[in-house]
Amino acid sequence: MLKPLMQESFILNAESQIMGSSALPHQPDSDKNVAMFRFLVMALFLFFTACSGPADVHETRFIMGTLVEFTVIDDDRDRAESAIAAAAVEMQRIEDAFTIYGDRPNAVKAFNTVAPDTPVELPDEVSQLLILALKVKQQSGGAFDPALGELNLLWGFSGDDAPSSPPPVQAIEDAIPPAHCIEHQGRQWIRTDRRCLLDFGAIAKGYAIDRGIAVLRQHGIRNALINGGGDIRLIGSHGKRPWHIGIRHPRKKGEVIERLDLQGDVSIVTSGDYERFFMYQGKRYHHLINPKTGWPATKVQSATVIASSATLADAWSTALFVQGVDGIKMQQEMNQKALLVDDQGKVYGSLVKSQ
Ligand code: AMP
Ligand code: MG
Repeated sequence: MLKPLMQESFILNAESQIMGSSALPHQPDSDKNVAMFRFLVMALFLFFTACSGPADVHETRFIMGTLVEFTVIDDDRDRAESAIAAAAVEMQRIEDAFTIYGDRPNAVKAFNTVAPDTPVELPDEVSQLLILALKVKQQSGGAFDPALGELNLLWGFSGDDAPSSPPPVQAIEDAIPPAHCIEHQGRQWIRTDRRCLLDFGAIAKGYAIDRGIAVLRQHGIRNALINGGGDIRLIGSHGKRPWHIGIRHPRKKGEVIERLDLQGDVSIVTSGDYERFFMYQGKRYHHLINPKTGWPATKVQSATVIASSATLADAWSTALFVQGVDGIKMQQEMNQKALLVDDQGKVYGSLVKSQ
């Protein structure tokens, strides 16, 4: 389907031609006929140009436990649709390769089940993402930790049955992994402690979106946006205008806390305590865990980061959520943009327009 705005702008152009011709000085009839003929040719040209203008193709797929929205602007609707289909297949492949949930085996689950200190060869792709995740862990002072699988399984936010009360205090204590429990030599990895289970939940969605965008590009797409439940990467523009992005208000559903006009190649990801949570005895418990305490991180409602890839924006939005306001400075030093909403609803960071 053609985007209405595009059609309108082309029709407006055609109308301005009519007004222009009526404002011409008096001409003989033959000249008038020639002018009329030229006008009709121009009008037909504009009409067909409008009909073949860029298509704005939207599709939604359920991948990685969330609705993933694809928007592609392209002259060729068939190309846009097949590009989206291929991107969705690639993103599903990544979910299958990295998830620690479900029955289907993968290398990450295999790693998590071998006895501690047993070397395991991980596929290149898993190895590369793990190296990046461990770098973010080190840079964030341990706020982000890809070895929290045991704790995350215990809290159960990503399982089939949503939890309704916190696990026993002792069970939480017992599930906290030591600060350094993953080691490697090349693609050979070991976990040195039984509490140490890989969980790519805070970074794999961003990585899948990066791969989705790469596949769209391989199909010749230059203007597109993939939104996986608050993890966004966009390329190009939305027709003649930038992409309009709203950062969700963490407490007012349907409202945004900041609006941004973005174009080019931008990855913007938000981690929020409203995504997966339960209320217990008047207190909110959510899925973003402080690795040092084993309990949901406090003092923040949402953290948004713009980074050079969706993978990094995803990892850093989780890290910033756990770090809290103190983490904002690090984002500036890394030339990443950020917006953080604290537990009082106060906003901080370079993405706040009033600053
Ligand atoms: P996100 O929504 O991207 O912030 O990721 C949240 C998911 O990442 C959770 O559901 C857990 O699987 C995992 N996770 C929770 N806390 C952390 C943390 N501090 N570091 C790394 N992964 C985490
Ligand atoms: Mg994340």
